[in-house]
Amino acid sequence: MKIVCLDLEGVLVPEIWIEFAQRTGIPELTRTTRDEPDYDKLMTYRLDILRQHKLGLPDIQKVIGEMGPMAGAKDFLDALRDAYQVIILSDTFYEFAKPLMQQLGHPTLFCHSLEADGAGMLVNYHLRMPNQKREAVKRFKELNFKVVAAGDSYNDTAMLGEAHGGILFHPPENVIREFPQFPVTMNYTELRREIDKVLA
Ligand SMILES: [Mg+2]
Repeated sequence: MKIVCLDLEGVLVPEIWIEFAQRTGIPELTRTTRDEPDYDKLMTYRLDILRQHKLGLPDIQKVIGEMGPMAGAKDFLDALRDAYQVIILSDTFYEFAKPLMQQLGHPTLFCHSLEADGAGMLVNYHLRMPNQKREAVKRFKELNFKVVAAGDSYNDTAMLGEAHGGILFHPPENVIREFPQFPVTMNYTELRREIDKVLA
């Protein structure tokens, strides 16, 4: 009766927006939750930039399809799913994540959705609910699961705090400094060791 909740970007796959920014040559899109903890502000900013450059969902999906998961991510995830139930909790969107989920063997993903117009231009985004990462962990605990959560950034710290065990994976220095209560892991071997410490 154990669940591992994993963040997606920065843990199993690259930061989708950063990769997209590099391939399209739009430096403004490298801004992430690491720089702007207010997610709504960040998304409004991103959609504005995309519209200004007339880039739509098909352009973004093409880039994401070519990105692939991080080295070793599929093996780590397969082994983890052999031992525990794994749920991926992400602030990305189903429309973005789909090609990567296929490459990871279709793990369960809870995230958000995008709205595009007839021309494929993104006109809005829909958060399934506020603070969904923390709320999901809270509900799993109410269902009598023991929960470990791991992530790399600001938008993970609430779920890390809610879980029985919260673990940082390859976080930036400012997150390490601000959240010294969470163990820091830098690779999949260390992450798996910390997960097992709580759950095994
Ligand atoms: Mg992340």
